[in-house]
Amino acid sequence: MRYEGTVYRPPSESDSLILQVTIGCAYNKCTFCSMYKDKQFRMRSENEIFEDIEVARKMYPYVDKFFLADGNALVMPTEKLSRIIEKIKTHFPECKRIGIYGSSSDILLKSSEDLKYLKHLGVGIIYMGIESGSDQVLSLVKKGATANQIIEAGQKIMSQGILLSTMIISGLGGEPLWEEHALESARVINAIDPDYIGLLTLLVDPHAPLADEIDQGKFEVLKPINVLRETLLLVQNIDVSHALFRSNHASNYVALRGVFPEDQTRVLGQIERAIECYRDEDLSDHNRRL
Ligand code: SF4
Repeated sequence: MRYEGTVYRPPSESDSLILQVTIGCAYNKCTFCSMYKDKQFRMRSENEIFEDIEVARKMYPYVDKFFLADGNALVMPTEKLSRIIEKIKTHFPECKRIGIYGSSSDILLKSSEDLKYLKHLGVGIIYMGIESGSDQVLSLVKKGATANQIIEAGQKIMSQGILLSTMIISGLGGEPLWEEHALESARVINAIDPDYIGLLTLLVDPHAPLADEIDQGKFEVLKPINVLRETLLLVQNIDVSHALFRSNHASNYVALRGVFPEDQTRVLGQIERAIECYRDEDLSDHNRRL
């Protein structure tokens, strides 16, 4: 198996075999993200990928999940992606699920028939970063998508019966926009009604363009107490039929996990207690830089 540069995968893919089918991110302009800033985007050749699959078969006696990297592997044309998945399924007949990152624009470029076919081949889960449901925030961080486009993309995946894992970034609107960020993100989540809702808290890598905005005083990092207030407002306004909510990444101030709506009241109580604990602490200098 060959890997190029740092490889990222969702926490829930920790026991999957990662196959790099693309290198980097085809978009690569989000100001908060530094993951692929050192990589020039390209699609790997089928020959290279097929060789990796054959080598992997010799190395691993049993693989039931694959994750296709890098940042937005779903950007790959459906025909090429299908041939790669067919190769995986031929060599790993025990593989039960294939996961992949996809941006809203990648999803919108796929037809419903494309998605149906990918699901038929074994794509079982797509990870889509919503980041924020606020058009103002999305524009400020150069996400390259509007809230309506994100909703349309999310609904498209849900309508095909493919599991959809979404992610929101706490603090992405900074101090001025935290309430709007919370309310609009809840609105987008509710419109999509995804299977998974993840919450990370903004951590700014020095190589991310947002670090310069912070240094120049153009972006005011959200104080921890307001991150918690934002999370409270978000969770208060989430109204989904059935979703696993997770806010238990190392970046989060309080670890939260539950199935919504069943566990929503308990999670709200946990956030309220965390706010009480933080209220008197002076954490205003905490600048959330890696
Ligand atoms: S957040 Fe996603 S779409 Fe934006 S630059 Fe990073 S990997 Fe690419």
